[in-house]
Amino acid sequence: MPRDPRYDILFEPIRIGPVTAPNRFYQVPHCTGLGYARPQTLAAMRGVKAEGGWGVVSTEYCSVHPSSEDDPMPTATLWDEDDVRAAASMVESVHRYGGLAAAELWHGGNATSNLLSRTEPVGAKSLPAWYDPVQCRALDKSDIRELRRWHVDAAIRAKRAGFDIVYVYATHGYLLSQFMSPNNDRSDEYGGSLENRTRLVREMIEETKEAVGDTCAVAVRYSADVGGPDGQPNTDEPREMFLALAELPDLWDINITDYSYEIGASRFVKEGSLEPYVNWVKPLTTKPVVSVGRFTTPDTMVRLVRQGVLDMIGAARPSIADPFLPNKIKEGRIEDIRECIGCNICSAGHRRGVPLRCTQNPTMGEEWRQGWHPERIAAKGSDRSILVVGAGPAGLEAARALGQRGYAVTLAEARTALGGRVTLESTLPGLSEWARVRDWRISQIDKFANVEVFLDSELDEEQILEFGADRVALATGAAWRKNGLGRWHLAPIPGCESASVLTPDEVMAGVAPNGPVVVFDDDHYYMGSVVAEKLRRAQREVTFVTPAGKVCEWAYTTDEQKRAQATLLALGVRLETGTVVQSLAGDKATLACAYTGRTRDVEAAAIVMVTSREPRDALYHALRGRIEIERIGDCSAPGIIASAVHSGHRYARAMDVEPDSAPFRRERAVTPTKTASG
Ligand code: ADP
Ligand code: SF4
Repeated sequence: MPRDPRYDILFEPIRIGPVTAPNRFYQVPHCTGLGYARPQTLAAMRGVKAEGGWGVVSTEYCSVHPSSEDDPMPTATLWDEDDVRAAASMVESVHRYGGLAAAELWHGGNATSNLLSRTEPVGAKSLPAWYDPVQCRALDKSDIRELRRWHVDAAIRAKRAGFDIVYVYATHGYLLSQFMSPNNDRSDEYGGSLENRTRLVREMIEETKEAVGDTCAVAVRYSADVGGPDGQPNTDEPREMFLALAELPDLWDINITDYSYEIGASRFVKEGSLEPYVNWVKPLTTKPVVSVGRFTTPDTMVRLVRQGVLDMIGAARPSIADPFLPNKIKEGRIEDIRECIGCNICSAGHRRGVPLRCTQNPTMGEEWRQGWHPERIAAKGSDRSILVVGAGPAGLEAARALGQRGYAVTLAEARTALGGRVTLESTLPGLSEWARVRDWRISQIDKFANVEVFLDSELDEEQILEFGADRVALATGAAWRKNGLGRWHLAPIPGCESASVLTPDEVMAGVAPNGPVVVFDDDHYYMGSVVAEKLRRAQREVTFVTPAGKVCEWAYTTDEQKRAQATLLALGVRLETGTVVQSLAGDKATLACAYTGRTRDVEAAAIVMVTSREPRDALYHALRGRIEIERIGDCSAPGIIASAVHSGHRYARAMDVEPDSAPFRRERAVTPTKTASG
């Protein structure tokens, strides 16, 4: 289908200093959990983005010097010639498709602990590192001269690697923002007055331009606000500083201070939410401005350009969920865009120090190590027929990818609606966008004449045998347990059979107890907090009990934790952290301190157990050895939605392919050029 002319504006080339981007689609720097540790994985992943039409493709934060590293979260590095070679392969893969490659040069200042390099962190003043028991050394004036040299040297290495755009990174609480902060009360010319606090960033922009500006554009990543003394965003100072710098760089990449809002989970932050924070920037500069907002809607993109808010459409997550988003708009295939759901699982990979993954795009991070492409897949290897039982994320993805390969697929779902857990979970507070996991897959399956879908079809052992498919994928999911088994309780909670126990499945189905409710969360991800929120919004008195120190503790990885806890507190949910449900009797729950074991009773008309799930795998055990049957998704191992989608995709990819001895390629350390001397 031809492109809608309304979107032509998105495909105009944009001049950025000495270089020209082929269009307005700008993949801003984003973490990957790959960095210096997995350069080939990284090069292939970034190359796929350029292939999909992103006009600019950036690195993640790229350290300029060993005094700034973030292991075990691997950053990119430009410390030496080995790094130049590694970075050059990413640049080449971006250039191959006509994109510009951008290097986000970074110094973390006191944010980093330097656990790998064992170098002292350095900063504007001696403050504790973000995560570890170490303080940085305050940079003196000769240190600052050194630092500027490190930055220039890294910029020169970036140029040698072939980058087209080189960043000066002045936000997110890293070194330059520490200097720019209103709290920078240094007594020398780098602290105190606004002019002094802006000095280092100005010097770095000027020196970077001087060093590489003949062929590379210089971009500045900058925050449109600062946290004020009362925690309120303040845009006055950033505006004043901006006016002093407005024409210096070739491009402004604008974001905001509160990372949990900038990369806000869709549960709390919707598409385009940064606009009111960043819209003051563009009128104050003639240089192109890019910013983000989890944009997946081309009409929103066009509006922002036409209204003079942005010149380029920045994206991290939308480019992860769909590396081919620009090309799909270009080719008039809007309905094929695989929209990001805003779950932030991509950022969890980085936080845990492993390659990124994506709920919507199971090929993300697998481009090199498994040779998976987000759009292409091998044609079928036989005429086998496949029955997929269960249409949650695993079953839908398996049916979709098998359908794309050309297999004859039958998808049978017990319920009257497709989607399994995402259909249920997307009814919980804030999670409506999660339905996109289902909707995109249905829209694709609808195009395949070789995939038949049956609703209201709960299959039993006999029916599966009778159906006579060559292969069966069991994607029947898992059910939340009532007995409290989980990380804390390795045996059922005493009294769980007699008391009124509910599961998240029942709460999602609309069951609401009469009277006070205890939500026992031993899962530590989102479910406990959204169930508590739902019940509280339905005017129930809710006590949230968890052995963890915080509400949904694991969700620090997805930047949801603080907002989830704040939401429950604001709603008046009683929080009992460091506490477990020890036993149940009638309408009482006995709670125990997770540390001292001290107990006390609370009234509970019902307990919602958010502890663990039981795989629905009875059919597998009944049929294994009799037919070719495999479990996929939660039926195999209950986990996050991203794992279910990945499992369904892997099943489809593996069909009629001889299994390899290694499940995926791994990057190994190469022989270093530097030898140990001491
Ligand atoms: P996953 O996350 O692994 O995809 P879900 O729990 O989301 O798992 O989905 C499992 C789906 O399987 C549900 O929609 C459920 O209704 C369906 N299902 C369970 N048992 C059967 C069965 N015997 N026949 C058909 N569908 C089933
Ligand atoms: Fe979007 Fe979730 Fe994929 Fe990240 S993991 S890109 S938030 S769908």
